[in-house]
Amino acid sequence: FGNDRPIRIEIGMGKGRFLLNMAKTYPNINFIGIERYSSVLLRAVEKFDTEEFSDLPNIRFVCMDARELPEVFAESEVDRIYLNFSDPWPKDRHAKRRLTSEGFLNLYHTILNPDGYIQFKTDNRDLFDFSVETAENSPIWNIKELTYDLHHSEFLQGNIMTEYESKFVAEGKPICRFVLSR
Ligand code: SAM
Repeated sequence: FGNDRPIRIEIGMGKGRFLLNMAKTYPNINFIGIERYSSVLLRAVEKFDTEEFSDLPNIRFVCMDARELPEVFAESEVDRIYLNFSDPWPKDRHAKRRLTSEGFLNLYHTILNPDGYIQFKTDNRDLFDFSVETAENSPIWNIKELTYDLHHSEFLQGNIMTEYESKFVAEGKPICRFVLSR
């Protein structure tokens, strides 16, 4: 970015609506969207190329798997991590692939600065319960700002919606959200 402003990342960015709007709203913060499928990331790039977003100097996209995070980011380099509507991987044997599983929370611990935090939103109650349990069992993380219905909670102010979120909210589904800090 050519500056030393804070870096915030979204892991599993999808088509980029959330992060592009965050970059527009917070011009003094640098944002990096991480997405493992180039076909999906391309949709974010296309959106970035539209008049509404093309002048934004504070956003970049990286096509990679979240497992490679420590190879890309230095220790404590990241200020905040956003996990929005992460894939639920409902089968027990795939639990390690969930972006809120213990292995991933340990990766986030290395790249996130000590005051940094993780913000997680999902419509999937099973994934949310799993994530709450994982965080509660962790010696590293503390849960803050827990809600099972974000859009009828005190935490809604300043909320920027993702593609998936707007779809689920339109269907009347409650959105779960928590913040993890150390
Ligand atoms: N965050 C967006 C939203 O809320 O609209 C997209 C949600 S979509 C259900 C989850 C996205 O995460 C998919 O595009 C998927 O390819 C990406 N993803 C899942 N696991 C990933 C991983 N390990 N590394 C990078 N991206 C991942």
